[in-house]
Order: sequence, then C-alpha cells, then structure tokens
Amino acid sequence: TIDRLADLEKVQVLGHGNGGTVYKVCNKRTSAVYALKVIKSDCDNIVRRQIFREMEILRRTDSPYVVKCHGIFEKPSGDIAIALEYMDAGTLDTVLNINGTFSEMLISNIARQVLNGLNYLHSHKIVHRDIKPSNLLVNQKMEVKIADFGVSKIMCRTLDPCDSYVGTCAYMSPERFDPDTYGANYNGYAGDIWSLGLTLLELFMGHFPFSPPGQKVDWATLMCAICFGDTPSLPENASPEFTDFINCCLQKDSIKRWTVLQLLSHPFVSGDPKS
Ligand code: ATP
Ligand code: MG
Repeated sequence: TIDRLADLEKVQVLGHGNGGTVYKVCNKRTSAVYALKVIKSDCDNIVRRQIFREMEILRRTDSPYVVKCHGIFEKPSGDIAIALEYMDAGTLDTVLNINGTFSEMLISNIARQVLNGLNYLHSHKIVHRDIKPSNLLVNQKMEVKIADFGVSKIMCRTLDPCDSYVGTCAYMSPERFDPDTYGANYNGYAGDIWSLGLTLLELFMGHFPFSPPGQKVDWATLMCAICFGDTPSLPENASPEFTDFINCCLQKDSIKRWTVLQLLSHPFVSGDPKS
C-alpha cells in the first residue's frame, strides 16, 4: 500500500486525459510502480463530476479484469490524485497504432477478458458506457483491463433518459440515439456490448469501422450511419466464429443483442485458448 503521496516519485508522463494528466510513478519505499492520475482543483464542473464518479466506482470494484485503484489522495491544493495499477503496454489504441492489426487469436483472448470484466461490472450493476480501444489497458503479459469510469453509471432504478447522452459518441449504440426504435425496455447494459463489438472490429480492421481508413467523418454522418446504415461486419477472410460473434454484438436492436453471459459461451471465446 501507499502511505503518503509524498512517497511517490514521478518517472514520466503517460498521457493526458480531459482534465488530468497520468504519470508513471515509483514508490520510493517499496519501489512499486503505479500510474498516478492527477486532476487539478481548478478543473471545470463536468470533469469534477466525472472524477468523483470514477473514484466511487474504483472504490467498489475488485476484479482482475478491471484496473485496480491503490489509493486516492487529496492534496492541500485541492488537486486529486488516484494511484492506479500500472499497465506497461498502455491502451489497446496505442498498441494498435504501434503494432498494427491484431490476429483473431489475440482478439479472442482480448474479447474473453473484456467480457469477464463486463460480466463483473454488469453483475455489480455498473454500466461502463465508454468502452473503446483507448479505455482498455494492456500489459506485456497481454492482460487486458477495463479503465476509465468517468461516464459510467451505477444502475439503481431504470435509466434516466436525461443523462444517457454521455460517452464517446462514435462507439455509442443505436438505442442511445433512438431508444424508441432500438431499445424496447432499454437498460444500458447492451450498449457496452455494442461498443465492445465495434472495438474488436477496429482491432481487426485497423480503423474505426464506421469511417474509411484515415478519414474522420462528422458527427451527424456518423449518427445516421449508426442508426440507419448497414451494420459494419467483418471482411470475408475472417473465420465464421469471429463473424458470428461480431454479429451477435452488433445487433442494432438492443433486445436481439447478446448479453455478456451469452457471449461468454460463444465458440469464439469459450474454447480453450488456442496456442
Ligand atoms: P480520454 O478522454 O482520452 O479517455 P481520460 O481523461 O479518460 O482520457 P485516462 O484514460 O484516464 O484519461 O488516461 C489518459 C492516458 O493515460 C491513457 O490514454 C493511457 O495512455 C494512460 N494511462 C491511464 N491509466 C493508465 C494505467 N493504469 N497504466 C498505464 N497507462 C495509463
Ligand atoms: Mg481514457
């Protein structure tokens, strides 16, 4: 454990999120390494709300598939620092940019771990709402962990429609835009499955499935594509198991979309890890 924030020595900057900076730090006493997320006290209210939500969820979760929190500190200045388990390969997004597209075998392995993480979260009534490559952390052992709970939601009653418009729009499911058409008794959990499907597709194809390689499309075009366009699917060279798995995740109608538990027994992920 970390006794004092002062024991942590900054090693380098790992990345910038909205509102905060993440540093690689080392505990001078134990030499343990952590990722320290620091949020300035003068950040705006939206960022503040997000960081309290994230702290609340990190405090509640304990799973090998969810990034661990080793301490939360408030400095006299009002800055907040969260010590997280350090993931030495960064995010799936950075790995994709450095190493290029992933093999099906790797994607199956990633899918299984993220599903285990989502199973943990969903069974604790937590909807992540921002699953995407840059929010999935990896280490050299190819362990994958879900991170970044800034817009997550702890479900108590039914969904509050006023607060459904959060997360990275690009990975948002059709029922988030149009609950009348795609979300009969919409509860939010299915949205994480849609985002997982898009994420895995992106790892295989090397670009965001709704826009051509190297191109950014505007927000309105994207929303139309998600709600009214054809669902993206895998190229011909993908295996039938993988193709079917993606189709189960990317059902536009949230009722037809598979749940975490159904997907965990899908042949694409349920078999023995192929070596
Ligand atoms: P974004 O809005 O892009 O999702 P954010 O505000 O949510 O950013 P984080 O995702 O928490 O901020 O962190 C920003 C970056 O810091 C990440 O993209 C990642 O590169 C790095 N990072 C965060 N947590 C860790 C960790 N536990 N181990 C290693 N690197 C990390
Ligand atoms: Mg992030």
